[in-house]
Amino acid sequence: MKQVKIHDKNFQLFIPYEKIRATIEKMAETMNNDLKEKNPLFLCILNGSFMFAAELFKRISLIQTEISFVKLASYRGDKTSGQVKQLIGLNEVIEGRTVVVLEDIVDSGLTIENIQGQLKLLNPREVLVATLLLKPDALIRDVKLDYVGMEIPNDFIVGYGLDYDGLGRNLIDIYSVANE
Ligand code: 5GP
Ligand code: MG
Repeated sequence: MKQVKIHDKNFQLFIPYEKIRATIEKMAETMNNDLKEKNPLFLCILNGSFMFAAELFKRISLIQTEISFVKLASYRGDKTSGQVKQLIGLNEVIEGRTVVVLEDIVDSGLTIENIQGQLKLLNPREVLVATLLLKPDALIRDVKLDYVGMEIPNDFIVGYGLDYDGLGRNLIDIYSVANE
């Protein structure tokens, strides 16, 4: 499938699965070296990161390691901040631990900045960030990214966990919106 129509938009094949997998294999190799003896807790940011997290975590060869799944939820009934998104689902104590945030994509950097801020309040030893994709041209925040799979242009993409209005997460390859 080289092209796919989702809702009103046409998308064309952008990153084939083989390339995604090879990228994640490399990331895992680096992380296996870096994170030895650190007993890292991986944190998958749902929903978009679930495929990336699964592909990466099965290649983490450490025994002392865990994964947990969290989500950003908008506050309800809070009149002051429509923008503040609370990290929910974190049941582990992260004080003193190495936490590795797994993100699908960093765009403006606002989401990852928010997550890092919330995690740091819980006094972890360190918060590392691994993102499969980065749009450098969209970045407006000075965030520290420890592991970046691939840099991509500032176009809207779907597939491999990423959606367009709920659809497209099941596509094994990544597609980019077609310029029409
Ligand atoms: P940021 O806060 O860095 O601007 O955006 C991060 C979040 O926006 C990502 O976790 C992802 O959910 C979403 N996002 C950013 N770019 C894209 C994209 O091209 N496609 C999709 N489907 N989601 C995106
Ligand atoms: Mg995301």
